[in-house]
Amino acid sequence: MGSMPPQATTNFPKVLTSQALRKVPWLIHGFSTRQGGFSRRYGGGALNLGFTRDDSSAAVGRNRQVFLETLGALRGKRLWPLVTLRQIHSDLIHCIASPPPQPLTGDGLITSTPGILLAVQAADCLPVILVDLERRAVGAVHAGWRGTAKRIVAKAVGELQRRFECEPRHLKAAIGPGIHACCYQVGAEVRESFESQFSYASDLFREAPASDSVRERAMLFLRARPPGPSNMPNRLFLDLVEANRRQMVDAGIRPKNILASELCTACNRHLLFSYRAEKAVTGRMFGAVGIREAAASSTGT
Ligand SMILES: [Zn+2]
Repeated sequence: MGSMPPQATTNFPKVLTSQALRKVPWLIHGFSTRQGGFSRRYGGGALNLGFTRDDSSAAVGRNRQVFLETLGALRGKRLWPLVTLRQIHSDLIHCIASPPPQPLTGDGLITSTPGILLAVQAADCLPVILVDLERRAVGAVHAGWRGTAKRIVAKAVGELQRRFECEPRHLKAAIGPGIHACCYQVGAEVRESFESQFSYASDLFREAPASDSVRERAMLFLRARPPGPSNMPNRLFLDLVEANRRQMVDAGIRPKNILASELCTACNRHLLFSYRAEKAVTGRMFGAVGIREAAASSTGT
């Protein structure tokens, strides 16, 4: 059992932003953390933004409200419409011109319409925000290993080109917190999937000697093999950030325009939700982006 994360002292959401995107006056963006919410689960005072099994929907609704307020996703005192997805680890990307009447299924959202907040949910998978400075178009992508193997970020770049004539060299990308290569142990099938897709797949994986855990020793004992390092298969770790960075560079985004959070979700449980580190009992964070509406006059209604 690990220690529980400390209880948040205030109900003010802690939101991470990308330095490069903060300077863009017409943009709203942010990556939520677990801190500063109203959920009683997940350590209390948690900013869970996903409708999970363990949390109350009222708490999630309140958390979403304060998150939007913190970002400034407001028209007067009314919150912007929030567009989220029923995420399925796919490569499906939706272009949003107005809030859909029914929740959409997929893992990517793009828009050029001001006054709508696009959000993807994650707790280890990577939230990726794309911004076209010239065309004023934005996107939000949910990229776990399956979506990454299906090239979802490259496809999002392609959709921005197709729908809004975005040029990749004008795009900026921000990769939010997710599980990093230090902690993201995967099975051989994941490497096989990447090797069949990407010429650079070998750069994305790191091998480490098997841990000497009780469970693994017990498995060896059951297989009636003498325990020893030579008999243990190496553990395999995937660098999901690098996988998505390479994909975006191949899609034409300039390397200097791709920024990634240094925070690993599994290493920073006090600040972030981690599906793996918390054994699936955890909340969800948002990677969110939207376009500000033209400034209304101060006396306008
Ligand atoms: Zn880590």
